[in-house]
Amino acid sequence: MSNKTLITKAKIVLLVIFLILGLTIYRFQKPQLVQENQFVLGTFGQIHLYTKSPKSGNKAINQAYQRIREIENSMSIIISDSDIYQLNENAGIKPIKVTQDTLNVIHKGLEYYELTKGAFNIGLGKISKLWGVNIETDNKIPPAIPKEEEILDAKKHIDLYQLEINNNELFIKDPKMSIDLGGIAKGYAVDEAVRTLEDLGIKSGFVNLGGDIFVLGSKPDGTAWQMGIQSPELGSSNVIVKIQLRNSSIVTSGDYQRYIEKDNKRYHHIIDPSTGYPAENELTSVTIISDTTIKGDSYSTAAFVMGLEKGLDFIENLENTEGIFLTKDKRIYASSGIRDEIELMDKEYKLFK
Ligand code: FAD
Ligand code: MG
Repeated sequence: MSNKTLITKAKIVLLVIFLILGLTIYRFQKPQLVQENQFVLGTFGQIHLYTKSPKSGNKAINQAYQRIREIENSMSIIISDSDIYQLNENAGIKPIKVTQDTLNVIHKGLEYYELTKGAFNIGLGKISKLWGVNIETDNKIPPAIPKEEEILDAKKHIDLYQLEINNNELFIKDPKMSIDLGGIAKGYAVDEAVRTLEDLGIKSGFVNLGGDIFVLGSKPDGTAWQMGIQSPELGSSNVIVKIQLRNSSIVTSGDYQRYIEKDNKRYHHIIDPSTGYPAENELTSVTIISDTTIKGDSYSTAAFVMGLEKGLDFIENLENTEGIFLTKDKRIYASSGIRDEIELMDKEYKLFK
């Protein structure tokens, strides 16, 4: 064997050794936490993930936020060139070409409208605008309580059959109707952010957009993510119940998240489409645990509107979906698939089985 061949062989052996060494070090390296918070969709966004390569972790987070902003730019009711803004502005006038994202969410909205028998209605934009609690403004004066005749009039213009879909064009036939995706698009954005992270190889982490959460896989040590449902009492960060989750979404809708107060009465942002008023019943929050965040977002809003008995019954009949209902008088009810997995943290609450 010539000297040259010997040197080449030695080089190859060395390279293989380095490669094996590198791979072994990588395998036994502990995943590191990479995280970033950003203000998106009018709320606090939080993405945490575990990765052995912080550089690619940061890149993945940036791409996930980019995806969220893309969705916000299509579906916001306050960004003037968004699909939804344009669609509402052109109600009764002309059809508007929309992005595939907007179409996806509209189709889901229509599906949930049927499934919830109208309790979830993306066509109630005129009512939510009247109440003015769906969007926070810098204006220090809270919006006034709308007059009854204004509500009754707006309630006449929430018929989703007035929305025409023609390929990627949408048209609202009723000039007085408008679309509000505030109860569904945040969930879609979480799912899309999660998909972006997964496509980039991320296996452990979570995305949280103002309480619409998806936990990806399990924690790096293989244990489940521990999630809590927060106390609905103002200013309290107490956790009422804890639950262990893997690869799942958890979303809460409550009467304490956005509201105005007048004469000791709380007018919150979850509207009962049958009355045009904020849904009023025994509930203070509904938490949905399911396989997609878009479902959780919509079903938590819908179940809140339905109230305890109907809401619990609705959730009980759905696949891959569980619910935890908190009442104003501190009772907790849960659907059968999750009842035994709840850990009660606040002894003032009573868990009904
Ligand atoms: P949920 O219970 O999930 O939803 C309540 C919201 O859904 C209401 O606010 C209303 O919009 C709608 N809704 C009420 N009743 C019903 C019903 N019966 N059926 C269907 N829908 C109903 N907020 C800002 O302050 N500034 C912003 O710039 C801003 N931009 C946003 C952009 C987008 C694309 C989205 C989706 C939301 C934006 N928001 C903004 C709103 C914001 O973050 C809301 O608080 C949030 O969407 C409501 O979510 P939730 O989980 O708190 O309540
Ligand atoms: Mg929601």
